[in-house]
Amino acid sequence: MPVFNKRLHITGIVQGVGFRPTVFNLARRFSLAGWVLNNAHGVEIELRGSGENLDAFIHNLQHNPPPLAVIDSFTVEDAESQVYTDFQILHSEDDPSDFLPISPDLNICPDCRRELFDPADRRSHYPFINCTNCGPRFSIVTGIPYDRPNTSMADFPLCPDCAGEYQDPTNRRFHAQPIACPVCGPQAWYEEEGKRLAERDDAILAARNALAEGKILAVKGLGGFHLVCDAQNPPTIEKLRLRKRRSGKPFALMAFDIETIQIFAHINPDEKNLLTSPMAPVVLLETTPAGKELARLVAPDQNRLGFMLPYTPLHLLLLEPDDGFPKVLVMTSGNLSEEPIACSNNDAHRRLSRLADGFLLHDRPINTRIDDSVVSVIEGVPHIQRRARGYAPLPVQIPAISIPTLACGTELKNTFCLMRDRYAFVSHHIGDLENQETLTAFEDAVRHYEQIFRIKPQLLAADMHPDYLASRYARQRAAAENLPLVEVQHHHAHIVSCMADNNLKPTEPVIGLAFDGTGYGTDGAIWGGEVLLTTWDKYERYCHLEYMPLPGGEAAVRKPARMALSLVLQAGIDPDSFAFPFHQSLDAEEQTAVANQVRTGFNTPMTSSVGRLFDGVASLIGLHQQISYEAQNAIALETIADPAEQSAYDFEIESGQFLVSPVIRAIVEDIKQTVPPGIISARFHNGLTACAVRLCEQVRFQTGLCRVALSGGVWQNKTLIKQTITALSASGFEVFWPHKLPTNDGGLSLGQALAALAVSRNLRSNYVPGNSR
Ligand SMILES: [Zn+2]
Ligand SMILES: [Zn+2]
Repeated sequence: MPVFNKRLHITGIVQGVGFRPTVFNLARRFSLAGWVLNNAHGVEIELRGSGENLDAFIHNLQHNPPPLAVIDSFTVEDAESQVYTDFQILHSEDDPSDFLPISPDLNICPDCRRELFDPADRRSHYPFINCTNCGPRFSIVTGIPYDRPNTSMADFPLCPDCAGEYQDPTNRRFHAQPIACPVCGPQAWYEEEGKRLAERDDAILAARNALAEGKILAVKGLGGFHLVCDAQNPPTIEKLRLRKRRSGKPFALMAFDIETIQIFAHINPDEKNLLTSPMAPVVLLETTPAGKELARLVAPDQNRLGFMLPYTPLHLLLLEPDDGFPKVLVMTSGNLSEEPIACSNNDAHRRLSRLADGFLLHDRPINTRIDDSVVSVIEGVPHIQRRARGYAPLPVQIPAISIPTLACGTELKNTFCLMRDRYAFVSHHIGDLENQETLTAFEDAVRHYEQIFRIKPQLLAADMHPDYLASRYARQRAAAENLPLVEVQHHHAHIVSCMADNNLKPTEPVIGLAFDGTGYGTDGAIWGGEVLLTTWDKYERYCHLEYMPLPGGEAAVRKPARMALSLVLQAGIDPDSFAFPFHQSLDAEEQTAVANQVRTGFNTPMTSSVGRLFDGVASLIGLHQQISYEAQNAIALETIADPAEQSAYDFEIESGQFLVSPVIRAIVEDIKQTVPPGIISARFHNGLTACAVRLCEQVRFQTGLCRVALSGGVWQNKTLIKQTITALSASGFEVFWPHKLPTNDGGLSLGQALAALAVSRNLRSNYVPGNSR
């Protein structure tokens, strides 16, 4: 029988995901000789055998790769005839010029879960079980290549049993870098007031008892600390809010299994897939009647609850069902509001001692802190709201070849983006860059990504806002390293990000609807209700929401009552003509001050932000007059919208603007007629949708464009995005919205990087934005 040699090159996420053992076992199955090795490009394989067996091998590997592998390219070529006697796994080689994607941290797999609860298994009830198909990855990587010495497991030498499994190509734990067992691996312990009260198995039991007693615990997990408590214990939740200084913001929840979650929330098949996926994010689910009770406690103003399943063995053990223990746990990030989550034991002791009654700790270091991801499902497709654990640092493939580029992102929900070749590495959620701690976390993360993906930026991108910390960082680096810096308009970046997320052509313009909270505009105003005709390199501001005065700037963001009064005054309505709810939180003095600011413009930026309009309208109809977290009023307004209401307020479109005041006058008329707030909210949502459709129809009539890209934080509003997608599609538009990245500012850094790349091909100095009108 004739014998051939073939060489295979495979790139993508192919290391640390069980690729080599799969190849080894397949080669044995088809009697092929040769070798496999990891190198800095991916996996390389040489095979020698009959043509039939070679074909079978290639077919099998292409169609049944290891479940966690993400293959970007798979090439096969003829190789020189060379005789091998067997099939071998060769030692990794590292080429310092090249790079590899790294797998995100992954949900515990069914096999490891079975072992965890099998009393006969040597890892029974061991909280750090993992294998090639699951467990920590990105959060423990300290360097490349991905090998045990380059992870935070470096200080745990393998016991003979684990070493045997690690070296056996037929074992599920072959080259599983975080492999561990009770003999040789990390251990957990439980502390109160600095004293170790229990170790190992007893530690978990002590923590469970403390939770049952209503205590708040700091629990070290996969990517950082959570503050954890019984979700159905009202005094404990109250205590948590007080200590965390977090009055109304919803808490994420964790329950042992799908059946428990279903008591509190409806789960459709798409949502179930997401909950049980390797990413295991927090999924936002519609509440059941029992869930409404729970939401009153942990997610006020919401008809959704954020649930996740236990994604590590430690979490499974904490929630193992038993009488007398909590069924649902609050799992909120272990931090004071606005700071990054704690990730080392020392850090947790320092920052969480006043927040937690006890600590469940372990000695596996976390190298990169990473929050839980938050996702909802829209039209059957995941809609990511916070992209972190399970997703980052998976790269997005871009339709261009990029020079090494760093985009620093924006202020709120910051992520940054590093690009090279055809990959964009959008970072995990960093947080709001408003304090030194978060800025330090940002700088550390940039350094780490540059190191592990071997990217030395030759081009920098930043938001145009002069004062954002991320923009300052970019300017300082541009000066220090003599690099070109492109400042990209916030909403331009939003739309480009959505285009790339959907693989749209860089040069084919789309109608971008950027409905957002805050973004610095080229005229110095705060933009956020923008219709932008957009390509990667430029945009034209076709139309925007009528400018509204924002009296006191930030003050009006935190206190939407000021925004409501501003809207009433702008609409020419006498604020004293009715007992508007905003009167209750603005005394006479503050009302006079706001009125003066609106009249004179003193300390009063103008804004076209749809987010601010939501704030003001919600205040006007009696929702929150002050807010304690971003988008609180918009969420409250969406929550009450009556789905049966069909009529809509009319945003008139006039000389490049869609007008606010006619809508405010109609709302005030309805308030005076005691129309229920749920109807008013629905009419407002419907009006905005109708307006979006008419705006796009105007653009189509004038330009022939019929692709619409939705991006910006306002589109997190599920009611609004769903009905707008439906209405635009019915009018014949092709509608695109972000899937791989968040629609809020967390997804913007990708667009910023690509816009900068496109612009830098023409310009060496700063970006000159498109026409404003
Ligand atoms: Zn596993
Ligand atoms: Zn061991």
